[in-house]
Amino acid sequence: TRLMGIIGDPISQAKTPQAINPIFAAKAADIVCVPLHVPTDDLGTVWAGLKAMPNLIGFGVTLPHKQMVPQLCDSLDPLAERIGAVNVVRREQDGSFRGYQFDGQGFVRGLTAQGVVLQGRDALMIGAGGAAVAIAFALQQAGVARLVVANRTFEKAEALARAVNEATGTAFAAAGAPTPAPRQLLINATSLGLNDTDPLPLDVSTLQAGMTVAEVIAKPEITALLRAAEQRGAAIHSGIHMITGQVSLIADHMIEALG
Ligand code: NDP
Repeated sequence: TRLMGIIGDPISQAKTPQAINPIFAAKAADIVCVPLHVPTDDLGTVWAGLKAMPNLIGFGVTLPHKQMVPQLCDSLDPLAERIGAVNVVRREQDGSFRGYQFDGQGFVRGLTAQGVVLQGRDALMIGAGGAAVAIAFALQQAGVARLVVANRTFEKAEALARAVNEATGTAFAAAGAPTPAPRQLLINATSLGLNDTDPLPLDVSTLQAGMTVAEVIAKPEITALLRAAEQRGAAIHSGIHMITGQVSLIADHMIEALG
């Protein structure tokens, strides 16, 4: 049996083991995922221990370790390097630890698994933090035609659009206002919506039927934005699907390492 961990502090909130173990079982993959409580001060010590266990296939990384882990990895997937954060580490064939980032691809898989078509679509994303950066790159890879990035701190939206365009050699992204167009895919990639008292990320009177409104927030499952979008006839997509998408990608990624 191969062991997959998930490291974080705290760790009791992590739902990855409950979600991924049934996938391993269904695919007859002899892997078991367990939560590992790793305080920041002990990350280096634990890292050496994880490395020394040959049957450890890899681990998920959650708060507060996502930004520290890239420095510990032996190598980084180009996307994780660009984003500067790792949420999965896998033991490669040569025994080295390689860091990956599945936030963006998980978001895309969550959308497509629900039948949302991305190819050729125009998108507006609000937010330019860690999750937004990962999603912007993943949308480009998934064939979205054009992306407008809106953010409270406008310079961050400009920097994100520039980074995606430079990395992909395209004019895919531009910074702009949070005003969706008819039939557009609208993504809330801010943390607004986590709390009941949060303001809405945009003027919801601009939402209409024909749009798809997608969230990164998974709890609450239906945010005030999604409620307003549904009332105005738009299709809605909860942040839960981003988690489901990621778990299924990570399961495939670990199973691939079984060889
Ligand atoms: P960051 O802190 O990196 O970014 C936060 C973003 O929210 C920034 O764009 C920030 O704008 C914006 N923001 C925060 N407060 C306000 C406000 N009061 N008004 C306007 N804009 C605001 O966070 P992450 O990108 O890492 O995470 C964002 C959300 O994504 C989190 O809520 C997290 O729960 C969710 N997430 C969900 C995942 C899933 O699998 N479902 C995975 C990863 C994240 P500014 O730049 O101006 O500060």
